[in-house]
Amino acid sequence: MKTCVIIGGGIGGLVSGALLAKEGYKVTVLEKNAIIGGGLQTFKRYGVSFPTGMHVFGGFQEGGNLRKLFEYLGVIEKISLQPMDKNISDVVTVLSEGKTYQLPQGKEQYIAYLLAMFPAEKEQIRNYFDRIFELSEEEDLFYLRETSADHLSHSEDFLGSVNRLRDRYITDPKLKALLGYLNDLMGGVGDTTPAYIHALLSTLHINGTFQFIGESQQMADALAKVIENAGGQVIAQEEVVRIEVENHQVTGVLTSKGHRYQADNYISDVHPNVLLRIIDPQAFTTAFKTRVQSVPETVSSFKVFVKFKEKAFRYLNHSHFCLSDFEDNDLDFSGIQPSDWPRSLMFVTPPVAYQGEFAQTMVIISPIAFDWVKPWENTHTGHRGVAYEQWKQTMTDKVLAFMERLYPDFRDGIEFAFAASPLTIRDFYGNKEGSNYGFRKDSNNLMLSQMSVSTKVRNLFLTGQNVNIHGLCGVSLTAIETAEALVGHNTIVRKINENQWLKKQG
Ligand SMILES: Cc1cc2nc3c(=O)[nH]c(=O)nc-3n(C[C@H](O)[C@H](O)[C@H](O)COP(=O)(O)OP(=O)(O)OC[C@H]3O[C@@H](n4cnc5c(N)ncnc54)[C@H](O)[C@@H]3O)c2cc1C
Repeated sequence: MKTCVIIGGGIGGLVSGALLAKEGYKVTVLEKNAIIGGGLQTFKRYGVSFPTGMHVFGGFQEGGNLRKLFEYLGVIEKISLQPMDKNISDVVTVLSEGKTYQLPQGKEQYIAYLLAMFPAEKEQIRNYFDRIFELSEEEDLFYLRETSADHLSHSEDFLGSVNRLRDRYITDPKLKALLGYLNDLMGGVGDTTPAYIHALLSTLHINGTFQFIGESQQMADALAKVIENAGGQVIAQEEVVRIEVENHQVTGVLTSKGHRYQADNYISDVHPNVLLRIIDPQAFTTAFKTRVQSVPETVSSFKVFVKFKEKAFRYLNHSHFCLSDFEDNDLDFSGIQPSDWPRSLMFVTPPVAYQGEFAQTMVIISPIAFDWVKPWENTHTGHRGVAYEQWKQTMTDKVLAFMERLYPDFRDGIEFAFAASPLTIRDFYGNKEGSNYGFRKDSNNLMLSQMSVSTKVRNLFLTGQNVNIHGLCGVSLTAIETAEALVGHNTIVRKINENQWLKKQG
């Protein structure tokens, strides 16, 4: 059996591990946290479960890329998914306008809704969304199509900025702003974020979004089972502190418990800055290290977790994005002052098994700059001091007050609420500056954040959100690319499609 050690038991580590396990690899996943899963992990507060970083995702509709992938892995039957409401999938409220948009699923329905709202932009809306879907077609992996090994060339629109694309088609400033509502899920900055990120995320959303019923942890556990059933292991509380490299080959990894693991191949699912900290210094050139360390991060979040009293708040089967004003969909924080925060937030009510009319919990996420928690950057979870706790409480109150602009009695329905800051995210995932989605891609300098799944260290491969695109979809698709770097180009995509063909034959 070939062997592989994976550093980090997040989505990327577990999906690439499960794919390799199916290829006959004996996989060992080493995860620093007490519970595996990274962004899939759920945690309990007073016996109630909350998700850490997986609230809404696409790709699971019939024929969707993730449905096909997780069917191939035998995971789909082990997880419970709730499709969002087809007719009202994303809700966007703009408080200054007193207006709420209720966006449906499906390209034609989505376009028809926007045409009704902005009739003067009829042609432009149609052309814009045709272009968005065309751009998504440039990414073969997104459609699980086999690719040629040659470097693919992309259109100018694909690589240019979101705003550049939008400005070419749309003239109404309000519509322009509305079309950016997914920025919260994209960590985007209009003038620099490449349009392909917006195109892929929009296509994913428009085709239909889902939530986990119960805990997102179920997916991490199901993936771990695939690895274990093939003779591998997934070990929690096993932080890798050193990656030993000799002659451009990893020879072993050491953990904080003093354990040493060896394998033929190694995959890193940790933030590249963590990788550089733990790998022997001669592994990479100074130029490479300098480049990686200079890549800016996507925005971080302040998250408020709410447990409602019995029957206090109706369950929402959609994602709700709320902006103070149209212009607040651009996550450039340079102009925002803590006194004027929050300007925008997104919330969901995660469904439970046998979900009834009322929600049990809510997760509210608002973008925030890491600079605001700098005074406590050298502290650790549970030991950040009174001033930090007071700051967190003030911020929580601001978020709840903002929610009361939408639901005037919101606070009366709360049994308890607590918050997580960029420091929580940083320490939990190991992400630099607690960034939500890792490296921030810049259409003006795409090479800066460019990471390949293969590295100069011959048996070390990369996976995870920094390699390509973040989120359940982006990271899972990159995991295919990583696993294929070990087992052969297109091997896994072909098998996923063969599995679909067999399914159709019954
Ligand atoms: C607030 C927030 C909300 C989000 N909401 C959504 C959403 O609704 N939908 C969506 O699709 N995506 C969402 N995301 C993004 C998604 O969670 C990430 O893109 C995804 O989890 C990244 O997967 P990954 O495998 O790259 O990293 P991770 O899932 O972070 O996994 C990396 C793992 O490596 C471990 N690790 C770090 N250092 C070490 C070490 N030295 N040794 C061993 N293990 C180590 C970490 O503990 C972690 O478990 C959200 C993210 C955040 C922060």
